[in-house]
Amino acid sequence: MSLATQPLDVHKLREDFSILSQKVHGKPFVFLDSGASAQKPKQVIEAMRFVMEAQYANVHRGLHYMSEKASDAYEAVRDKVAELINAGSRDEIVFTRNATESVNLVAYTWGRSALKPGDAVAVSEMEHHANLVPWQMLRDAHGTELRIVKITESGELDWDSLEQVFADGKVKLLSLTHMSNVLGTYTPVERLAAFAHERGAKLMLDGAQAIVHRAVDVRAIDADFYVFSGHKLYGPTGIGVLYAKAEILEQMPPFMGGGDMIASVTYQKSTWAKPPHRFEAGTPAIIETIGLGAAIDYVRAVGFDAIAEHERHLTEHALGVLSQIEGLRILGSAQDRGGVISFVMKDAHAHDIATLLDRQGIAVRAGHHCAEPLMGRLGVTSTARASFGLYTLPEEIDALATGLERVRKIFA
Ligand code: PLP
Repeated sequence: MSLATQPLDVHKLREDFSILSQKVHGKPFVFLDSGASAQKPKQVIEAMRFVMEAQYANVHRGLHYMSEKASDAYEAVRDKVAELINAGSRDEIVFTRNATESVNLVAYTWGRSALKPGDAVAVSEMEHHANLVPWQMLRDAHGTELRIVKITESGELDWDSLEQVFADGKVKLLSLTHMSNVLGTYTPVERLAAFAHERGAKLMLDGAQAIVHRAVDVRAIDADFYVFSGHKLYGPTGIGVLYAKAEILEQMPPFMGGGDMIASVTYQKSTWAKPPHRFEAGTPAIIETIGLGAAIDYVRAVGFDAIAEHERHLTEHALGVLSQIEGLRILGSAQDRGGVISFVMKDAHAHDIATLLDRQGIAVRAGHHCAEPLMGRLGVTSTARASFGLYTLPEEIDALATGLERVRKIFA
């Protein structure tokens, strides 16, 4: 067995996440809400503390020691992100606040410059609002069309629907989740890239969930755009990533104007810096970016093969134990699925499930998960959702099952 596929020593890893050893309502804290935001290892907290205590100044602006130190540390994270996703160049990595801002950036700048009124953008029925609302806004402001690719009963992309959506040749962008935050479904990204490219469209992937669970290689996928947030990847909030192919970024006008994104400014006219700085107006999230760098070091040291394998076991175990609970229905049954499981229970509202579990120290999410149209498609108004991280233990899934049995008895 290679080192990379050694089983994770989860108990050891959990020592890095002190929050997990707390009690909640007098019970051991069982955190099953990593899909919303992951906990942070001490290495991330330490890196952020270090920059503030010992290496802090504004970046790119000062010709002094501290500014150079901070700039080097900040820019080094661009290399780490490029390596993490195997980008062709560090200049293809734009720092944003989060995945949401990355999608908005693409919709606003690429959408308005590369798309003509009448061109279409296609998304699927299982998108997070972050990959739906920006395209509605583009449609309303710019006259593009928004098309929706259906999903099947199992919660996978419906290829017939995809063919239909592309049939008249108007779709210029296919923008899809790489992993659904509700159903856990992974989309077949290489195949989708080939499909889009053969039809003259670009592919954008919302990797907010997938980046946490699997090694992502944007060049192997041949994605044109890839977006994710730092806070789900065990990093801090306030830092996100937009990857785009260099030739696309080169052609994109800026998103916001201000300091750092210009080449020159006069009262009459300004010219733009080259990517990625063209898209990073103003003082960036220096401390958070450095925290993201530490999070990337952390997950890479743990190893994506091991993380993926651990989460595969957890998911299998969870699907097994949850399906034993009477009246509980798991949504989605995709072949290729990750550690995000949504469910509903007969007679118990998702909010009640979450509240009763919370009393037992168990944190799950309940609601529409920022995917209201998908809720409609699934015929529910909300679901409860358990989502796993590299620190999740099988015993915690058993605790969830025991907790849900109690919920069932209360509502029976
Ligand atoms: N896309 C997916 C699939 C998500 O799960 C999320 C967050 O839950 C987002 C996008 C948006 O991420 P953020 O709120 O960090 O921008």
